[in-house]
Amino acid sequence: MLNLVLFGPPGAGKGTQSAKIIDTFGLIHLSTGDMLRAEKASGSELGERVKSIIAEGKLVSDEIVIEMISKRLDQHADANGFIFDGFPRTIPQAEALDTLLAEKGTAISGMISLVVPDEELVVRLVKRGIDSGRADDNEETISKRIIEYNEKTLPVESYYQSQNKLHRVEGVGSIEEIGQNIASVLNELNK
Ligand code: AMP
Repeated sequence: MLNLVLFGPPGAGKGTQSAKIIDTFGLIHLSTGDMLRAEKASGSELGERVKSIIAEGKLVSDEIVIEMISKRLDQHADANGFIFDGFPRTIPQAEALDTLLAEKGTAISGMISLVVPDEELVVRLVKRGIDSGRADDNEETISKRIIEYNEKTLPVESYYQSQNKLHRVEGVGSIEEIGQNIASVLNELNK
């Protein structure tokens, strides 16, 4: 199995690049952000609970996202592999993912970390907010999300580095160019 963590700050291009990777490598895309937005849109009890947390740019609890991922892994028991997008975002999430995958006799193959400077992120996210209408893509929430990322999520990169699984890829450039750099890492991992 090819199990990939696509990592990077909000606005790094994880969603865009995931779409390309899924097509090429036949992986199941698991985005906790997409799942939470779907819960919000459906008006479920969970959606109601996470609404204000997302609006404030904070992270929802580890328990909630780990449970969502665990369910999806079971639903796709015979997948070729998974691409985790926006998950894990904390060390406890990373540890839980290792445990869940080990129970299925598999593991994370590698992490691709997209590197983009903070100034560029804000420009991209403000533009995305205007284009797509995503409610948390406004300047106030964006800066809170970046702070949350630097405090709680960045350590996850070191977690995979210590397992020799970290691959940093420059996240500034054309979508195609970045996609090619990611694909060459994946081809190595897939050997
Ligand atoms: P994203 O689309 O990945 O940027 O996620 C949007 C928002 O959903 C984040 O700002 C968090 O509030 C929440 N969220 C998404 N994934 C996670 C996660 N793995 N852990 C905690 N909160 C998350």
